Amino acid sequence: MTDLLENYSRFPFSLIKGEEVYLFDENGKRYLDFTSGIGVMNMGYSFEAGKIAVKTQIDALSHLSNLYQNPLQEKVAAKLSQNHEYKAFFCNSGTEANEAALKLTRLIKSGQKVLAFNHGFHGRTFGAMSATMQEKIQAGFSPLLPDFVCSDYNDVDGLWQVLSNQNIGAIILEMVQGEGGVLPITPEFVQVLKEAQKAGILLIIDEVQTGIGRTGKLFSFEHFGLKPDIFTVAKALANGIPTGAMLCKNEYADYFSKGKHGSTFGGNPLAMASANEVLTAMTPDFLSEVTDKSEFFLSVLTEKLSVKSQVKAIRSVGLMLGIQLTDGQKITEILGMLRDEGLLALSAGDDVIRLLPPLIMTKAELVKGAEILEKVL
Ligand SMILES: *Cc1c(COP(=O)(O)O)cnc(C)c1O
Repeated sequence: MTDLLENYSRFPFSLIKGEEVYLFDENGKRYLDFTSGIGVMNMGYSFEAGKIAVKTQIDALSHLSNLYQNPLQEKVAAKLSQNHEYKAFFCNSGTEANEAALKLTRLIKSGQKVLAFNHGFHGRTFGAMSATMQEKIQAGFSPLLPDFVCSDYNDVDGLWQVLSNQNIGAIILEMVQGEGGVLPITPEFVQVLKEAQKAGILLIIDEVQTGIGRTGKLFSFEHFGLKPDIFTVAKALANGIPTGAMLCKNEYADYFSKGKHGSTFGGNPLAMASANEVLTAMTPDFLSEVTDKSEFFLSVLTEKLSVKSQVKAIRSVGLMLGIQLTDGQKITEILGMLRDEGLLALSAGDDVIRLLPPLIMTKAELVKGAEILEKVL
């Protein structure tokens, strides 16, 4: 008997404690965490600076409405602003960040369509879901928002075709499709996006999973010399305190004039206190270590797993990795076997094991996880 709605398929156990990159269940069994709570705990479970900031803030003031000045929001916004080129709106989740992006887009590009890509993921509320071109996510919820069109990710010709045949005002996308199966964008596709942007189409980049250091840069668009018009973050922004943000280039700031959008909890002081510490930790040295560890980890995984008949491909961008299997039917079983061996991992798409270890994981711990994968696969 449960009083919960059963909209999630949950593993039959619970985790009650976290330390560094490990989680512990009710029986004290220890697991190496390759999930980061779905890309949330980038700084791991013992992020002291964040914990102290939140504890101090909860004693001072745990909530402050957006009717008043909020210096902590200012600090976090400055750190997200790419040298004051973007302005921030704070909310509480990834889907809300995308919702804000889509509302802003309507104001800027009124009457024009939004293009989104097959297998992308942008969230579960109506706007974000309308941009999530996955049958299993949209099924049963029509009518969705009108004027969203879709095209295949990394299909250059397909993209040109849509751009020349439809009145597209904005394109929303991930630089690595996370939920879709850890599919990185190709340089050729980025080139077309840059040309579209030059022609006046808004680029909205969803950094909810790829952002905050996950790919070895603060934001994954930095790998491509891209400057989105709008970008969104959430998941890892406050290392476990729910928060999200939408950032737009300064030139669009006036569209969100007084009263156009809002959120009761958005930019909450506890979330901002934590986010401020997370962003302070994202130094160039920290990020280059992420890159170094991710190159190391990819080579270890490739060495151990590419010989396995079950493994079709290994893909990665930074510490976001996908192991594509020849038989997707076995994913749940494999995740269960990994768990029995003390490793927590995720799935993505239909046939991919997704790994999102905390960014603080050491090389020795990454090797430990790779050995468990080698054993189970
Ligand atoms: C998780 C995710 C979202 C949705 O975030 P929520 O906080 O669950 O609403 C949106 N976009 C991407 C790319 C995500 O990975």
